Amino acid sequence: MQDSSRYDVVIIGGGPAGLSAAVALGRSLRTTAVIDSGSPRNAPAAGVHNFLSRDGVPPLELVAAGRTEAASYGSVLIDAEAVDIEKDPEGFTVTLGGGGRLSGRRLLVTTGLTDELPDVQGLAAHWGSGVIHCPYCHGYEARGRAIGVLATGPMAMHQVQMFRQLSSEVTLFLHTGPELTDDEWELLAALSVRVVSGKVEAVEETDGSLSGVRLESGDGFPLDALVVAPRFAARSALLESLGVRITEHPMGIGYSAEVDPQGRTSVPGVWAAGNVADPVAQVMASSAAGLMAGAAINGDLLAEDAAAAVERHRAGAGQALGGAPAGHDNGTTTGTPDGTAELESHAH
Ligand SMILES: Cc1cc2nc3c(=O)[nH]c(=O)nc-3n(C[C@H](O)[C@H](O)[C@H](O)COP(=O)(O)OP(=O)(O)OC[C@H]3O[C@@H](n4cnc5c(N)ncnc54)[C@H](O)[C@@H]3O)c2cc1C
Repeated sequence: MQDSSRYDVVIIGGGPAGLSAAVALGRSLRTTAVIDSGSPRNAPAAGVHNFLSRDGVPPLELVAAGRTEAASYGSVLIDAEAVDIEKDPEGFTVTLGGGGRLSGRRLLVTTGLTDELPDVQGLAAHWGSGVIHCPYCHGYEARGRAIGVLATGPMAMHQVQMFRQLSSEVTLFLHTGPELTDDEWELLAALSVRVVSGKVEAVEETDGSLSGVRLESGDGFPLDALVVAPRFAARSALLESLGVRITEHPMGIGYSAEVDPQGRTSVPGVWAAGNVADPVAQVMASSAAGLMAGAAINGDLLAEDAAAAVERHRAGAGQALGGAPAGHDNGTTTGTPDGTAELESHAH
């Protein structure tokens, strides 16, 4: 197999984070390739909310618009899965699932996360419609309806309060969640939240929509929506193969790649942004992180390019920084002894 293409930046993952980075880099005239396997995390949802100016836009429509914008700045969009990354002397080489390889001086991973759902019969089929997790994404659409909260961990009490804000008809299913404390029982009573003990066996549906849950005891409870707390598992296998540090979220809700505020990982030359690095980032925050990482990568490349230009300039080998060879006085930039550059005036 031969290297077919070399870019300034290879971006793995073409969701909001990766495409925002591609736009920022393209507008700085950096060459980018975006490799995307076509399954953005929110694909099951009907619309994207809390995205100012595009409220309710279907997730795939948003991605399509982002792809058009990235392509308009020269980004090469590759519909494929990245299956392997190797460090090479000039950066990184990425291998695609269907064969083919491409290389980049820098690597940005924006592969998102997988929502690991509770193992309840029929639940996964309603993910993103009747089975929901995020009050900001789709809580408003369930306002005033019969909402169940499926307890599987410590997030359940928080979710009860978030969704109680949106409906007076909230039921907490204790399922496999932790024992409630006296204070929690008191809070639930104060909020008029019904509490149901026992394990939920199945999600029930009517005409293709979620219509309730059935306990192991056989008791059924009609519902319009069921709130769950998935484990947020970063799609971080490629990053891990390069040795990038992965951390558990402090709230125990999952794990993600460790990055600094600009998206730089623990491995030089490798950045990560969006849900792979921040499991609670929504679309706008993921886009913003992609933009930030794109700008930071451009800055990193600028520093490398400037250092190389100075090397060439010192060696008298070429046209450093677009200026003249050393020793020529044509009114462009020249170096000073302290390493700064000054502009000489030159009137023609
Ligand atoms: C059901 C649901 C509804 C949501 N609703 C909202 C909402 O209303 N508003 C909101 O702001 N947020 C919402 N979110 C959150 C939103 O989905 C995320 O914030 C957003 O998708 C994160 O963007 P991202 O670019 O990091 O990842 P993603 O959008 O998941 O994009 C990652 C991309 O990387 C690709 N990929 C992964 N691995 C590889 C690989 N090895 N090679 C090539 N490509 C790869 C995937 O195919 C995918 O296209 C919702 C989430 C869910 C689960």
